[in-house]
Amino acid sequence: MSDCVFCKIVSKEIPASIVYEDDVALAFKDLEPQAPVHVLIVPKKHIKSLTDTTPEDKETISHIMVDVIPELAKEFKIVDNGFRTVINTGVEGGQTVAHLHFHLIGGRSMQWPPG
Ligand code: 5GP
Ligand code: ZN
Repeated sequence: MSDCVFCKIVSKEIPASIVYEDDVALAFKDLEPQAPVHVLIVPKKHIKSLTDTTPEDKETISHIMVDVIPELAKEFKIVDNGFRTVINTGVEGGQTVAHLHFHLIGGRSMQWPPG
């Protein structure tokens, strides 16, 4: 999608600190990290949000959750202490970029409930 910032990161039109890439997914450091580790994982395909997925997206989304996020958590050494994975959806969910993304946040203690 031409006006989507994460599509532009996927196509390398704008720079990002990329930490993982495969055929269907890309992970890069958040521009405004909220913790010592703050990585965003996106499907390369433009999917607006979790409620805009189709059955054909299932494989990619489960791949991100089952393979990519645990692998990144190991790489950033946050498995033992724990970490948080967040998907914000829509306005009240706090979604500011309309391209589905998973936040991987770690390296400090988290609070609950979130703000
Ligand atoms: P949301 O609020 O939609 O769940 O999260 C969007 C995230 O994307 C925010 O944490 C924000 O800091 C990050 N972000 C927005 N624009 C950019 C960008 O151009 N590059 C990177 N690396 N992160 C971005
Ligand atoms: Zn996009």
